[in-house]
Amino acid sequence: MMNECIFCRIVKGNLPASVVHRDGFCMAFMDIQPVNTGHVLVIPTDHVAYVADLDEDVGAHLFRIAQRIAVALPRSFMQCEGVNMFLADGEAAGQEVFHLHLHVFPRYRGDRFGFVWNSSLPHIPARDELDTVAENIKKALT
Ligand code: 5GP
Ligand code: ZN
Repeated sequence: MMNECIFCRIVKGNLPASVVHRDGFCMAFMDIQPVNTGHVLVIPTDHVAYVADLDEDVGAHLFRIAQRIAVALPRSFMQCEGVNMFLADGEAAGQEVFHLHLHVFPRYRGDRFGFVWNSSLPHIPARDELDTVAENIKKALT
């Protein structure tokens, strides 16, 4: 199929990828447009677009593999003083490929990567407000 998900094509071996890890639930491979050298994507092998659709055990497994990769990065002879893990869930969060993936990438001082946040007018919520928001999230937890 021409418009099949690109990460599903990678899983099936129909698109090339530089693979770091593969097991029965997930695959980890190099991002083709790395933030920094060593940028890895960890994905479930079964197609899932969003966090809400992800089996919790598979999610826990993805993090286990991401954790191992994060530990391996500074040992891998690359510039790595710290590590970011990042997951964009939904278009508004910056998701561009709609097959769930966890980014794991090296960071170092002066690497020019950063999250942009306009903090010129910070809203510091009162405790009441924080408690209300916490209560709303608690009620929504499954
Ligand atoms: P998102 O913005 O959805 O969180 O990230 C998508 C990521 O997938 C980007 O970092 C992009 O560079 C990467 N990407 C897009 N197409 C391909 C591809 O064909 N192969 C690989 N390895 N990475 C890809
Ligand atoms: Zn897919």
